[in-house]
Amino acid sequence: MTDENALIRPPQEVLDEANVQDWEGLLETAGADPVAFWEQEAAELEWSKPWEKVLDDSQAPFYHWFTGARTNIVTNAVDRHLTTARRNKLALIWVGEDTSKVRTFSYFSLNREVEKMANILRSMGVEKGDVVTIYLPRIPEIYFAMLACAKIGAIHSVVFAGYSSEALNARIDDSESKLVITVDGSWINGSVFPMKHIVDDAVKFSPSVENVIVIRNTGTEVTMDPTRDHWYHELGRLPIAQGHCETVQVDAEDPLFILYTSGSTGKPKAAVHTHGGYQVHLSSTMKNCLDIHEADRWWCTADPGWITGTSYVIYAPLLRGATAFMAEGSPVYPYPDVWWQLVERYGINGLFTAPTAIRTLMRFGDAWVTKHDISSLRILVSAGEPLNPEAWRWFHEVVGGGRCAVIDNWWQTETGAMQVTSLPAMPKKPGSAGRPIPGQAVAVLDEAGNEVPPGTDGFLVLKNPWPSMLRTLFKEPERYVETYWSKYPGYYLTGDSARVDEDGYVWIIGRTDDVIKVSGHRIGTAEVEAAVNSHPAVAECAAIGLPHEVKGNAIHVVAVLANGYEGSRELVADIRAHVSEHLSPIAKPEAVDFVDKLPKTRSGKIMRRVLRARALGEDEGDLSTLEND
Ligand code: ATP
Ligand code: MG
Repeated sequence: MTDENALIRPPQEVLDEANVQDWEGLLETAGADPVAFWEQEAAELEWSKPWEKVLDDSQAPFYHWFTGARTNIVTNAVDRHLTTARRNKLALIWVGEDTSKVRTFSYFSLNREVEKMANILRSMGVEKGDVVTIYLPRIPEIYFAMLACAKIGAIHSVVFAGYSSEALNARIDDSESKLVITVDGSWINGSVFPMKHIVDDAVKFSPSVENVIVIRNTGTEVTMDPTRDHWYHELGRLPIAQGHCETVQVDAEDPLFILYTSGSTGKPKAAVHTHGGYQVHLSSTMKNCLDIHEADRWWCTADPGWITGTSYVIYAPLLRGATAFMAEGSPVYPYPDVWWQLVERYGINGLFTAPTAIRTLMRFGDAWVTKHDISSLRILVSAGEPLNPEAWRWFHEVVGGGRCAVIDNWWQTETGAMQVTSLPAMPKKPGSAGRPIPGQAVAVLDEAGNEVPPGTDGFLVLKNPWPSMLRTLFKEPERYVETYWSKYPGYYLTGDSARVDEDGYVWIIGRTDDVIKVSGHRIGTAEVEAAVNSHPAVAECAAIGLPHEVKGNAIHVVAVLANGYEGSRELVADIRAHVSEHLSPIAKPEAVDFVDKLPKTRSGKIMRRVLRARALGEDEGDLSTLEND
């Protein structure tokens, strides 16, 4: 369906401004000696004690980076800007769901807020190595809370603000958090979501939680337990909250945070990330792959409850001294042009979002976009799921006006930062996630561990250790070894299946478990879904395999229709014919069902395992991360 050899040359404007012009040269030098490359990237940051070794692989797969070094990600994300002219520059612009509410912070005032929060955490007995659960919506305090934890060497565990009390409770108990930071309530499409009530239920039986800090956000009435709960604004007035708070210098390998995966394929896993390597990898990819310039205004729409948000909303823009932008609301509230209004109003230069948002906005039509002047945009980024060619083109042409770099990037909670992407100056292939980042190499293996020829699908593995890699799964070192390193020792198993084409571009074709074997042919969910999505009547869809007497498995498609279309037998026939023609007759779906909504994780990923279980009448498994209806 897609012409994989069609390389799209980036627009001249992008080429002229790209941080990396000679992308082939960079891939070559970094590829020849990845450790030397990462060492050079690390030298751009501050370390209070230099490393003895860049990479220590003596206990592999427990890799260690920048061993012996001392640093703190806050030294590099905040402190070092304060001694330069950047201290008075905007570090953060925040806009509420009610977009007339705006709060801005210079690096100087961001530091003041982080110091205040850090002083308060200290006064409550939070020490280096303690876990703090952060259950906050997208408000400036989520920056303060995460940075304050890091500043004093505590470990943050951000739990997405939409989770239920059970899901929150499980994460608090699992991490043995001493303290929870939350709000009275959060705004969701004009209504209040009662977050403090959820926390009350979640901590009722949590033995580890000693204190709950509550930030006043919506003004909603809440119950405060006088022995446990504290209003943040009251704490902030106490003498203990005032004054300077030193950034603790920690070992490069000391943990910075734990974060749970999305739960698309099963029970979520808690990845452990550290200060040293993580900051290097973020700083490097933000410069080379996402092309941020210091003067840029950078908006990553992800939630810090997911790795994309932790990495590219909170830390990466600050590490590069840019201006971060955060919006509290959703892309369609109150109208589906709120994002474009904000881009126009604040002159956003880089926008990083997810395919689910792109497809949703696409459904509403181009006029919502084109009525705004969004010509400040230079970089358009997507991650989280495959960006189907149709959505890629819409992002490029309608949002980017053909002037921007569209950058897909593939990675995982476990990898901490991107691993496969297309550098801004690199020619693009819509539908491909790009090529391994500088310093990384991938392979596609068959069941026996042999590399398959270009164009053949198989298990995607990462060949090189990388600085922002997870160090282990929290409290589950055996599961860490078993899940990622035991199938093909020496290689990191991603759990995704992919193809690498003749030009070295990676095509993610789905989760390993989701690949559908029809009459002996292996068909990726991403390809079937891209083909169905390219039918004008379809807004989005999921493909699953169900048992079939003759074919072994048959493809079933569950689709959400675009505005103005209605399901009918003719439409089903038309979609089946469309897939047969544009992908392959073998991939022609057995059945097409229409639904109003697909089951998705709260991070916006389609949960095919839930559809499969429903179709087979089986147990749906761990649903803690399923989005509410
Ligand atoms: P779990 O591991 O609990 O099943 P999850 O894998 O969905 O959940 P995340 O770490 O949030 O949790 O997501 C990583 C996965 O998202 C990748 O393994 C891949 O399947 C998918 N993904 C991320 N970015 C892309 C992309 N650009 N293109 C295709 N797939 C992507
Ligand atoms: Mg995963």
